[in-house]
Amino acid sequence: MTDQRIDTLAVHAGTEADPTTKARVTPIYQTTSFVFDDVDHAAGLFDLEIPGNIYTRLMNPTNGALEAKMAALEGGVAALATASGHAAQFLAFHTLMEPGCHIVASTRLYGGSLNQIGHSFRKMDWHASFVDTDDPANVAAAITDKTRCIFVESLANPGGVISDLAALAKIAHDAGVPLIVDNTLATPILCRPIEHGADIVVQSTTKFLNGHGNSVGGVIVDSGNFDWAKAGKYPYLSEPNPSYHGKVFTEAFGNVAFILGCRALGMRDLGPQMAPMNAFLTLTGMETLHLRVERHCANALALAEWLQKHPKVEWVSYAGLPGDRYHALAGKYLGGKGGAVFTFGLKGGYDAGVRLVSAVKLFSHVANMGDTRSLIIHPSSTTHRQLSLDEQELAGAGPKVVRVSVGIEHIDDIIADLAQGLEAA
Ligand SMILES: *Cc1c(COP(=O)(O)O)cnc(C)c1O
Repeated sequence: MTDQRIDTLAVHAGTEADPTTKARVTPIYQTTSFVFDDVDHAAGLFDLEIPGNIYTRLMNPTNGALEAKMAALEGGVAALATASGHAAQFLAFHTLMEPGCHIVASTRLYGGSLNQIGHSFRKMDWHASFVDTDDPANVAAAITDKTRCIFVESLANPGGVISDLAALAKIAHDAGVPLIVDNTLATPILCRPIEHGADIVVQSTTKFLNGHGNSVGGVIVDSGNFDWAKAGKYPYLSEPNPSYHGKVFTEAFGNVAFILGCRALGMRDLGPQMAPMNAFLTLTGMETLHLRVERHCANALALAEWLQKHPKVEWVSYAGLPGDRYHALAGKYLGGKGGAVFTFGLKGGYDAGVRLVSAVKLFSHVANMGDTRSLIIHPSSTTHRQLSLDEQELAGAGPKVVRVSVGIEHIDDIIADLAQGLEAA
């Protein structure tokens, strides 16, 4: 990170005035392609010998501004914007995995990630072991000679679980593999996983980074710290690439080999690029990220304290509460805060959950998180319904569980809405 504070980076990083037009706000470069100076220039661009724009599937200046901002906020060397958070994960794994390889992942991942890794990746002969990462020894025990990465969330949805990133990074590095961290719920305002040893950070920009619920997107940030050649397990990066005249990415690109592999191989061939319009909306949202996260966290804490005393509520799982089992890790990794998304259990079970989400008025019943608006969902009847009951319980999304993403409205209105909703439940 530069020596500027993160609040300043959220406003300014990556978004200097436009070099050609002097427009102060980064324009939406709504173009598919960019004109070559001449044949030699084109050849240099295609051979990755000269940096520059070719075609928006590979790069686009609006996306480039978002990538620079994200790299600065996370303290990485470079980033790649993608069509969605899941596309970011897919491209990151695709760059590291060969058929028959293996991921060690947390049982507490976002439900969509459990599906992606546990089911769809099998078609590529990529395998996974899901372990309870609360005890990092479980991660060490699951690593095999086929393991290519460890994947956790810094702050996991929906259980409010905080990963011990430094311990997990040590285990990963002892095994010669990178730690990949999904930092979606914490955002770089609360946690910068690279500072704790993570090698790669992925984000769904759909959530807090965009912050206004108007565009799906994702980003991969490369710390530049992992030595892919030395590890000897990543032939896509460290062996001659036939689609670039035998270029070896680790030799040609040094500490940005991974992120260039994600772009010039994965993005080029698989294609999940972010639309420039979505990059623009996300950039606009990110200018207030630090302010929104502060209010989100204050509201979430006040609501969690109120719910804890409510007679229809069995438990509240929020790392921002002093008595919470993850509060110490929140102190270590999230500045003592718990984020804006948390779960609570209803004494009335599945039916009470369904009645509550039907009765709320201010809260929107949606599958999104990280919006300015307060959002609510009953995972067991929606996001996690594809999982078996056992898998739901393991993911912290059993029938009693309600998840809220607390918005930035006035706290009294938020509490009043849940009060009347719980009355109906
Ligand atoms: C939403 C989410 C994703 C997936 O992101 P999309 O942008 O919806 O593809 C991944 N991880 C976490 C923690 C999420 O909340």
